[in-house]
Amino acid sequence: MNSFIENVNFFEGNDPEKIAQEYGTPLYVYNENILRNRMDAVAKVITKYPYTANYSVKANTNIHILKLALEEGNNCDAMSVGEIQMLLKAGFPKERIFFVPNNVSAEEMQFAIDHGIMTSCDSLQQLELYGSLNKGGKVAVRINPGVGAGHHEKVITGGKKTKFGISEEFIPQIFEIAAKYNLTIAGINQHIGSLFMDPQPYLDAVTNILRIALQFKDLEFIDFGGGYGIPYHKLDDEKDFPMEDFKKRLEPILDDFVVKYGRAPLFKSEPGRFCVAEGSVILGRVHAVKHNNGKTFAGTDIGMNVLVRPSMYDSWHDIEVIREGKVVSRDSLMEQTVTGNICESGDLLAKDRPLPEMKRGDLACVLDTGAYGWSMCSTYNSRPRPAEVLICKDGSVKVIRRRETIEDLMRLF
Ligand SMILES: *Cc1c(COP(=O)(O)O)cnc(C)c1O
Repeated sequence: MNSFIENVNFFEGNDPEKIAQEYGTPLYVYNENILRNRMDAVAKVITKYPYTANYSVKANTNIHILKLALEEGNNCDAMSVGEIQMLLKAGFPKERIFFVPNNVSAEEMQFAIDHGIMTSCDSLQQLELYGSLNKGGKVAVRINPGVGAGHHEKVITGGKKTKFGISEEFIPQIFEIAAKYNLTIAGINQHIGSLFMDPQPYLDAVTNILRIALQFKDLEFIDFGGGYGIPYHKLDDEKDFPMEDFKKRLEPILDDFVVKYGRAPLFKSEPGRFCVAEGSVILGRVHAVKHNNGKTFAGTDIGMNVLVRPSMYDSWHDIEVIREGKVVSRDSLMEQTVTGNICESGDLLAKDRPLPEMKRGDLACVLDTGAYGWSMCSTYNSRPRPAEVLICKDGSVKVIRRRETIEDLMRLF
């Protein structure tokens, strides 16, 4: 496709150049309609049995986006006490928060217990700790599914080499610890990894955890994890995650389990990226173009502190070029390397990428930045973190996080 932002009318009639001038660059711009649409889609993955989609908030913790998830009927997964506090502040009742941490202190676990928030223990020692803090309580355990999937070694979270969960061979010890502290194992959860476009590994992992679930008698819920992908190569016509096909193939697996288990517990999934990634772009300014040793470098203000995924995971983000408010056509492309303004050679947004020729003063519009974008921002090179604006359903533009200032950074000294 020539342009995603034109196809979906991302700016809802607003001029991106005006938005950039008014709020400054680099700037995260969100689209409320797209965010709501994806959150609604995940809430309907299972309709035949009791089900909730738990939005995994580490992908994006902006409180205004959490409120959208609340309204769209998503529950949420928190990875830390900070994320729990964000969710409480956004208005989530404790029943709609699931704490899925790893390697937490007694104080952190106590916080969840004091707030009545269901917690999943990621190791036998964490389960032991939980038991000692909350005798007679209800708890979940995270199972390491023994298999994983994902776009990069760093985001595969299931499998024999990863740090997450308790492997199946230790299930007898789970029961021993539960008996010792009179705990009820009310849930089991897993997560195989992030960003798969083929549903099969996930379906296999569902089958696997349902087999394991038969050993647990008191389950109130079984949580299959997240990881549904989104097309990061959409300008090259990459297809969406096949949600309808996935749903069709998931149902008979659940049917089979419900017969064997004798009842249907609550099923859960934990999508993060799918809910928010496509609902945001970053607008950045091209400040300098140069030609070094036969290579063209377009230098922008979108450094690795603003979007770390390309340098951290070699991730691909499509880039559109906007000149005077209009998307530049992709009819004629030239190879360019798009960089940020951070003093690191790894500060690259795109390497040797065929793109419309970028000129000083253009806007670079980086697509699919709503997940693991702002939430992974840093202040490296003493660069304050960017502002976030939301294009609301009615087309109005609302600041949902102000730009950080140097004073904000100084305040800590
Ligand atoms: C990060 C994470 C998720 C969400 O993964 P996505 O790829 O963003 O869907 C779900 N569950 C757990 C335990 C996670 O750590």
